[in-house]
Amino acid sequence: MTDRTPGFHTLAIHAGAAPDAATGARATPIYQTTSFVFDDVDHAASLFGLQAFGNIYTRIGNPTCAVLEERVAALEGGTAALAVASGHAAEFLTMHALMQPGDEFIAARKLYGGSINQFNHSYKNFGWNVVWAETDDPSTFEAAITERTKAIFVESIANPGGVIVDLEAIGAIAKKHKIPFIVDNTMATPYLIRPFEYGADIIVHSATKFLGGHGNSIGGVIVDGGSFNWMGDDRYPMLSKPRPEYGGMVLAETFGNFAFAIATRVLGLRDMGPALSPFNAFLILQGIETLPLRMQRHSDNALKVAEHLAGHKAVSWVSYPGLRTDRYHNLAKRYCPKGAGAVFTFGLHGGYDAGVRLVSNLKLFSHLANIGDTRSLVIHPASTTHRQLTDEQRRIAGAGPEVVRLSIGLEDPEDLIADLDQALEAAA
Ligand SMILES: *Cc1c(COP(=O)(O)O)cnc(C)c1O
Repeated sequence: MTDRTPGFHTLAIHAGAAPDAATGARATPIYQTTSFVFDDVDHAASLFGLQAFGNIYTRIGNPTCAVLEERVAALEGGTAALAVASGHAAEFLTMHALMQPGDEFIAARKLYGGSINQFNHSYKNFGWNVVWAETDDPSTFEAAITERTKAIFVESIANPGGVIVDLEAIGAIAKKHKIPFIVDNTMATPYLIRPFEYGADIIVHSATKFLGGHGNSIGGVIVDGGSFNWMGDDRYPMLSKPRPEYGGMVLAETFGNFAFAIATRVLGLRDMGPALSPFNAFLILQGIETLPLRMQRHSDNALKVAEHLAGHKAVSWVSYPGLRTDRYHNLAKRYCPKGAGAVFTFGLHGGYDAGVRLVSNLKLFSHLANIGDTRSLVIHPASTTHRQLTDEQRRIAGAGPEVVRLSIGLEDPEDLIADLDQALEAAA
């Protein structure tokens, strides 16, 4: 590269990758191996002691995964990253580096359903307690802070799509109280929103969705913003206290502004084990090469479909921040002027039964529980993902009987609109 600062499209293709030193291979090789040979015992000792960077065993790092890590760190503007087996693993290892038993973190109520489960139930086994705040009211985050609060967690574009979070306002509260601010940037991706510019300290991704982008690989990424000062902060012993596993090394002292990424690797990934397969890293990297093209097309297509649905007689409401009349339109203009993403919900006059008929009549849309595929996807949450909840719980989760969620793909928008029209007709 030249000494120009590369633009986003260039980074999406080149960051972290160079022709393979051994073979000249231009595409990133898939290092499909469990382990790497040491030069000698001293080399092994320096790797295990964290005195040298290098490869030991694919559970704690792999050269194909390393390209993915560098690529996502560059796109987000972070100092370093860690690739892991899934988005949930990224969330878990992030919390594992920050939380001790009895600690609390504050999370926005509007989150991916799996994250709500993870926070409410699984984390209880570790003594980590979630305190919920109102996604649209930053003052509720500040009001929830106690001396046990170790982190604040939000999604930039929040589930079930169509919710733009005021990152700057919540980031300012986190900074004022010296609490790390974690942003799940899965739905926006760094093409639409770069949370480090608004006060995030740590970014997590489900690479399963738009980063990979083709519905073929589960993966996750943690990105260190390098902005939080862990040194001397007794609240974060994983980072600021001597680590017995590493001869008393203090990670924040040795690794400075990428100590968080190191902690999630050498303590979290090493001991908990959710490693990303090099093959999946390759597929996710392949996806990222076209991330800016895809995200623009996803957003443009979603806006066209949302506009069409907003004028349809069977539709009672559409929640898409790209629409001028939407309650989040001003936040969308501020945080994601290029587009508001692929995922949104709308309501059917015909209620529950119309929702069930719609998903069974769609032909081009696939009826499944994922987002962020080249293909357009649909789900009627009340009859599927949220079926086990009560009516009241469903309504609070934004999954009332009439709600349908779409993840708009990269097809011709006219074909998507025609498919929705025929299915709405059949469902009426
Ligand atoms: C899917 C998703 C996750 C979980 O990711 P997995 O890769 O499925 O483990 C977390 N956050 C958001 C916003 C998601 O959409």
